[in-house]
Amino acid sequence: SLSEKLGNIANKLRGSARVSEADLDATLREMRMALLEADVALPVVRHLMSEVRERALGAEVAKSLQPGQVIIKILNDALADLLGGQRRDLNLSKIPSVILLCGLQGAGKTTTAGKLARLLIGQGKKVALTSVDATRPAAREQLQVLAGQVDVPYIAGDGASAAAMAKSAVKQAGRDGHHVLILDTAGRQVVDDELMAEIREVAGAVGATERLLVLDAMTGQTALQIAEQFHSAVNMSGCILTKTDADVRGGAALSVAHSTGVPVRYVGTGEKIDAFELFDPQRMAGRILGQGDVVGLVEKIQAGVDEEQAQKAADRLKKGQFDLGDFAEQLGQMQNMGGMASMLKMMPGMKLPQDALDQIDDKPIKRMQAMVYSMTPKERKYPKLMNGSRKRRVAMGSGTSVPELNRMLKQFAQMQRMMKKMKGGKGRRMLAQMMG
Ligand code: GDP
Ligand code: MG
Repeated sequence: SLSEKLGNIANKLRGSARVSEADLDATLREMRMALLEADVALPVVRHLMSEVRERALGAEVAKSLQPGQVIIKILNDALADLLGGQRRDLNLSKIPSVILLCGLQGAGKTTTAGKLARLLIGQGKKVALTSVDATRPAAREQLQVLAGQVDVPYIAGDGASAAAMAKSAVKQAGRDGHHVLILDTAGRQVVDDELMAEIREVAGAVGATERLLVLDAMTGQTALQIAEQFHSAVNMSGCILTKTDADVRGGAALSVAHSTGVPVRYVGTGEKIDAFELFDPQRMAGRILGQGDVVGLVEKIQAGVDEEQAQKAADRLKKGQFDLGDFAEQLGQMQNMGGMASMLKMMPGMKLPQDALDQIDDKPIKRMQAMVYSMTPKERKYPKLMNGSRKRRVAMGSGTSVPELNRMLKQFAQMQRMMKKMKGGKGRRMLAQMMG
């Protein structure tokens, strides 16, 4: 799914301590693929990508302390903006306010009329429902049943045409003192001129305050076309995305919101009458990126700690204070990063043949760590203190041997020399990478 894919990309970013412009481009390419596969329309993807790129470069992601987080935040904000920025409530100041629901047959208009009625009653509004499907009595009955379920009056409008029925229902709603009349209309299989003319006529006859397009989230690419046609006919004031529970790709909302400028107001999340929510662009963007708030927070803290550790080690390196304790800490980080071989591959200026890398065994890392942890802090700082009796003590304490300990101390001395050579920027970056 889109959220899975973008979530994966986000996770990868979270793990990287450094993002170059090339990394950024690679990440954007991955995002682009994920968005396209999720049925987000190409112009929307293009817009989003250029937006993210511009903001990322402006934010100097490569130089920031947590580049991955910064990119995720940028993408999150760009997505939210695309989805309408802030959530907007319906304009229901007029009494009665008429909410016109339009859309193709099967989009979920009638179900949504019931759901919306229930939601507005919960806000203390006096709501009534009416259907102006002039040709299908069964469609009107379906809404009548729903009205009974949510306990709001159903108003049957009189008249030969949909517009006439709508007009008479609005009059009735006014007489009965309702705040809101939700108007369910007839749908067709495909957008046709007859349907468009009828909806335009209904909207004009009742002066609907909100004209909401009910759109099946599973419609995919054609959602855009449908939205554009309805929008040009009645100037939609919003969109309700249904069946978001069944939509595995989730791209329709992005496309519709961006291309028509019609904001998504609510989402249907299931067949049940209470499976309906106010659409919140910020939350939706978060969901698409798969960032649970709690998870995100924990990761942020974690990233901050690692960053601090890397910075500390880098500072010590600069001052030539890099000791065995730092060494042991780094060995642990190395393991987390997939072992010695993958680390060596990342080291600048370190070109080892693959078969040599394959032979590297990471088990000794644990033993090395054990040896360091068996040393006193003073010994870690000044390995020269390690005489025969100290070595025997450490070997015993770590379950290793004196020759093994000697090898480790030699390796550390080599590493320290190498790091001194790479002091400064290069060494810092490498450390940052190592501490990841
Ligand atoms: P209409 O022709 O536009 O009035 O569509 P209906 O309201 O009759 O809905 C068509 C079908 O979609 C029905 O089976 C509904 O139960 C189903 N439906 C509507 N909204 C949702 C939703 O948010 N989630 C799911 N899973 N099904 C929905
Ligand atoms: Mg219907």
